[in-house]
Amino acid sequence: MSKQDTEIHKLVEREEQRQIEMIGLIPSENNGSPAVHAVLSSSLNNKYSEGYPGRRYYEGNQNIDEIENVARDRVKELFGVPYVNVQPYSGSPANSAIYFALMQPGETLMGLKLANGGHLTHGHPNVTASGRFYNSVQYGVSDNARINFDEVRQLALKHKPRVIVAGNTAYPFELEFDKFREIADEVGAWLVADISHVTGLVVGGQHQSPVPYADVIMTTTHKTFRGPRGAMILVTERGLEKDPDLGKKIDSAIIPGLQGGPHNATTAGIAIAAKEAAQPEFQDYAKRVRENADALADSLKANGLKLVGDGTETHLMVIDLSEISPGLGVQVAYAMDVAGIYANRNTVPHEPGSPFYPSGVRLGTPLVTTRGMGVEEMKQIGEWIARVVDIVKDKTLPEDKKERAKFIKEFRAQADANKDLLAIRKEVTALASTFPLFKS
Ligand SMILES: *Cc1c(COP(=O)(O)O)cnc(C)c1O
Repeated sequence: MSKQDTEIHKLVEREEQRQIEMIGLIPSENNGSPAVHAVLSSSLNNKYSEGYPGRRYYEGNQNIDEIENVARDRVKELFGVPYVNVQPYSGSPANSAIYFALMQPGETLMGLKLANGGHLTHGHPNVTASGRFYNSVQYGVSDNARINFDEVRQLALKHKPRVIVAGNTAYPFELEFDKFREIADEVGAWLVADISHVTGLVVGGQHQSPVPYADVIMTTTHKTFRGPRGAMILVTERGLEKDPDLGKKIDSAIIPGLQGGPHNATTAGIAIAAKEAAQPEFQDYAKRVRENADALADSLKANGLKLVGDGTETHLMVIDLSEISPGLGVQVAYAMDVAGIYANRNTVPHEPGSPFYPSGVRLGTPLVTTRGMGVEEMKQIGEWIARVVDIVKDKTLPEDKKERAKFIKEFRAQADANKDLLAIRKEVTALASTFPLFKS
């Protein structure tokens, strides 16, 4: 990287140092391989190529055409699907494109509630495009924190959705695409699997594949897939059987529907990531992500913490702090950051706090596994997190909503100077600094 712009360069170096010294447990984050990183800053970033291989609106796309074809072929082979579009700018616009292709405005979309582990783009009401342009009906989880398929079926029979989305961001269990398929068939809905979070586990043989069940699959490419920031839309055999034009409809929804020129450096990064994901080492990576998730969950529980659904079947888990103190997620996530371990606060099912002051903290193992950490480190990290919770457990959020912002501000100032948290940070830094950003 050019060091001419010292103001920015200093900040980038500082960010790299932060990532090295700290332990990242945000389940949607990961580190791409050096090969993926290299291609992102290549000359591919310079080129305009609106359209698709062989059908571009700009000249000079001979090489770009080949790159996009290689990316598409590798992804098709990796997942075993007949059609793929690698151009979505990211996961959110990719979901918009799928809805744009499959629904008219005002038709019914069904997705998992955000507060129960869904994503904003799955029809979260009022504030999102998916919740405003479509008639959004949302399903949730049962008391055991698992998706309530009786509710999904009842809602589907009643509201006759055009599209049912099966996808998750904070749901720790496997998505049962086979069960969604039955319900989608009963009501004649399209089944869209949004596997952004679990795609690496699917490819790595650690999670049920949606390919035999879904009509359309969306995944981001920068989470467990370990590619560049981007997304792709896959159409399955089943989807093409129902509508032979489905692939074309997805392509037109991307451009001219929603996007202009594709990000060609990203496309090349997706091709590289797809090749890496086809190697035996990636199967091993996915296995270690799962082992680490189980080890972290066990350690948290052994140290007295409660988990939503009592554990995990994937790469992620949510600590449930609601019994200690409703709304404690803000304080714990902040204190963990001071202690060198960054994650994010999250709602728990039947949240007694609020979305802004939730009672959970979401954790995942994709990134620490990429850095080469294993079961021993997970055990240690679980202990550190339990120590952090112990340090802040009495910092109860005020009942009076007007006092909350001030309380959090004061809490943060205290936490920044808290000797016990800073002592943990020293231990964390000593450990984390011995692991590279990308090992295997
Ligand atoms: C991350 C994610 C998205 C959105 O992806 P962005 O790249 O952040 O826009 C959509 N759906 C699910 C399930 C996700 O996890």
